[in-house]
Amino acid sequence: MQLRRRQFEIIQEHALRDIPYECCGLLAGVRQPTHKGEYENVVYEIAPCANVLYSGREHGFEISFSEYIDIEREAASLGFEIVGSYHSHIDLAAVPSNSDIDFARPGHSMIIISIENMQPSSVTSWYRRDEGGFHQEAIRIVE
Ligand SMILES: [Zn+2]
Repeated sequence: MQLRRRQFEIIQEHALRDIPYECCGLLAGVRQPTHKGEYENVVYEIAPCANVLYSGREHGFEISFSEYIDIEREAASLGFEIVGSYHSHIDLAAVPSNSDIDFARPGHSMIIISIENMQPSSVTSWYRRDEGGFHQEAIRIVE
């Protein structure tokens, strides 16, 4: 996946601001075909969302359906689609939980930023294949 440096910083700032809770948001951009016959998600816009999980926001997140639909519509007006999501993990490794795997839609990337001792410690991205399966992918930061 490809992410601009400024947006990478916005995600980190959001994660720090929402401590002790997990932050969450959506990634808008395009799915770019690669020469290998697969897709790379190219992120152009970041949409921070409210974590509306009723309880346990320290270790979980939920994006409301209405916010998701609003962002999807706004992205479409810019010629983009939702290509994934991001959220933070507080004092936990940047590895998807079972509910994270359920949330990820086919073709989407999921960025997880791990916060340890109030500081970003690691950032990973996970790609959900159209035909199923979830694997870690590289994050290419571009200026
Ligand atoms: Zn998670």
